Amino acid sequence: ALGYNQAVKENRNLYNMLQELRGNIRVFCRIRPPLHPESISSIEHVGHDGSVMVCDPVKLQSTCKIFQFNKVFGPTTTQDEVYKETRPLIRSVMDGYNVCIFAYGQTGSGKTHTMCGPSGGLPRDFGINYMALNDLFNISTSREDVKYDIRVQMVEIYNEQVRDLLSEDTSSTKLDIRTSSNNGLPNLPDAKICQVQSPSDVINLMQLGEKHRASSSTAMNHRSSRSHSILTVLVNGKDISGNVSHSSLHLVDLAGSERVDRSEATGERLKEAQHINKSLSCLGDVINALAQKNSHIPYRNSKLTQILQSSLGGNTKTLMLAHISPEAESYAETLSTLKFAQRASTVELGTAHANKESSEIRDLKEQVDTLKKALASKA
Ligand code: ADP
Ligand code: MG
Repeated sequence: ALGYNQAVKENRNLYNMLQELRGNIRVFCRIRPPLHPESISSIEHVGHDGSVMVCDPVKLQSTCKIFQFNKVFGPTTTQDEVYKETRPLIRSVMDGYNVCIFAYGQTGSGKTHTMCGPSGGLPRDFGINYMALNDLFNISTSREDVKYDIRVQMVEIYNEQVRDLLSEDTSSTKLDIRTSSNNGLPNLPDAKICQVQSPSDVINLMQLGEKHRASSSTAMNHRSSRSHSILTVLVNGKDISGNVSHSSLHLVDLAGSERVDRSEATGERLKEAQHINKSLSCLGDVINALAQKNSHIPYRNSKLTQILQSSLGGNTKTLMLAHISPEAESYAETLSTLKFAQRASTVELGTAHANKESSEIRDLKEQVDTLKKALASKA
């Protein structure tokens, strides 16, 4: 009974926090620490209010720009601190909300570090992927009133082909995408779905996924920065009165956003560059169209936007983690990432709703039950 009351209280606290999280695409910006201590930085100032000031390292003060986001994480921010800010959003998956978190930024800016942790992140210094799943397990075991079922899919998009990273048959690249907004149902129905029952199951699956991702390429780092990887967590809940919820959490590590110079790239590299440029510019087009509230949103132009369709324009809470490198030589890419992120932050998604009865109604029903029982015992 104590566990249940605790859960109800937690729920209410969460509910309050979530009020804040509704609405636009949220944007957090994370600045990686400099790789060499002596390097010149283009980041002039990081404010506690979510602002960041970047300056052209050549022209300096004359060309400083300030950007405003929901949060800015400076170079000394730890993985735990980043997770703490992301946690309420992730936890809302257990209340039936769809959530999508995507890491954007140029290669080397720290996307994989944030999502997976250093060099895949296992077993130390975990990234969001692992911490999120671990957290979802904790909630699922602490709530006596709801039975949860947690399943995972893992795919990558490389050269506009979707590859299942959890299937032994990694050659299959013809995965169908379901674009209708079947709330909380997998939008990659053919990708292998693995049931996970413990954090160690998750570690095993992530390692399997990483292995499959690497096996197809001689240079793993190159490949992973040239493909988008999507970890999908599907959560089904059933409470004691038989109410059910379905929700999904997408955790996306995007390919590097830097424009590859077409005159330098040839062969495979050129093909990769064209596919990445195309899918990220499709993502940008979709975000622009949503920001301008256009009637036509061009989701169908890339696999990435098809898979994320319901996350970008639908009933989902979306968080963009914009990653920037502090080095002066990255200034142009940093500026381009910050501009992209700023545009994303103007997209209004409307209010996401839980794919089930709200916790408020559940609480009220519970109060009614208690009152009924009290009345019955008086009678
Ligand atoms: P990306 O996935 O964007 O290409 P990585 O996550 O691979 O970038 O990061 C590039 C390098 O910088 C890696 O060696 C990584 O360990 C390091 N790095 C990135 N972010 C951080 C951070 N916040 N703290 C310490 N090292 C980091
Ligand atoms: Mg990476």
